[in-house]
Amino acid sequence: MKVFVYDLEKCNGCHNCQIACKDEHVDNEWLPYAMPQPDTGQFWCKVEEEVCGKVPHVRVNYLPVQCNHCDEAPCMKGHPAVHKRADGLVVIDPEEAKGQKDIVASCPYGHIYWNEELQIPQKCTGCAHLLDDGWDAPRCVDACCTGALRFGEEADFGDELKDAEVLGADFGTVPRVYYLNKPKRFVAATVVDLDADEVVEGATGLLQRISDDAVVMTAETDEFGDIWFEDVAPDSYRLWLKKEGYLDQAVDADVTEGDHAIPELPFFRVPVRK
Ligand code: SF4
Ligand code: SF4
Ligand code: SF4
Repeated sequence: MKVFVYDLEKCNGCHNCQIACKDEHVDNEWLPYAMPQPDTGQFWCKVEEEVCGKVPHVRVNYLPVQCNHCDEAPCMKGHPAVHKRADGLVVIDPEEAKGQKDIVASCPYGHIYWNEELQIPQKCTGCAHLLDDGWDAPRCVDACCTGALRFGEEADFGDELKDAEVLGADFGTVPRVYYLNKPKRFVAATVVDLDADEVVEGATGLLQRISDDAVVMTAETDEFGDIWFEDVAPDSYRLWLKKEGYLDQAVDADVTEGDHAIPELPFFRVPVRK
């Protein structure tokens, strides 16, 4: 059974996969798997962007999405026009599905589109026409220069998939599109000595988990006063700052819902007794 595997650490957001899908399917008819995709409005492969943090601590994460070719696909239930091939790809027979707009709503991921002109539901076919023609992989995979997107027999990926994630795992659909190295969260700050009107270099930061007081990471501010904690698990933390000559400083950093960036974190010198 075939699977798609995206390694998000290697994905640079180039959109080649999305463009290749358009090139293969817009204005082209690949029966019995696909009628032409319209040139606007449909994205059988879509590279989504997520901008995280706050200026100046910003990261862009890319997440390419497509039909998950689910083993327990809701789109197949009650729709004989949608079926799973022996290689695992879920395809919609465009001729049989004509007029069946309800198929669009059956996908909990929103990966099925309605073609108003042709009156058919459409989605990623897994480029079944190419595989039938002897290709090893679909067009989107062929177009991915970084190796972020691969396709093949699940067994051939071996242990690589043991930590892989799927989208919508709680939908119960058993997706066959896997994601490796999904980005975790970050905590970042620029530490500033407001009295001296300068950033603070060389301050030590400790990231302490609030639930058990465990210090999970340490880091140091750089010459721009920036401090970064990468790959932080979703949780509530307290960021402690320490440096000789400064008062210890603590600030809460909650990354349960997303990244935490502090554009300006004031740090105060120990008052001098006169
Ligand atoms: S072609 Fe590859 S690197 Fe480019 S966006 Fe698609 S998956 Fe990412
Ligand atoms: S992602 Fe949606 S369209 Fe694709 S197989 Fe699963 S339920 Fe069907
Ligand atoms: S497998 Fe083919 S139809 Fe599906 S997203 Fe890739 S190029 Fe498009």
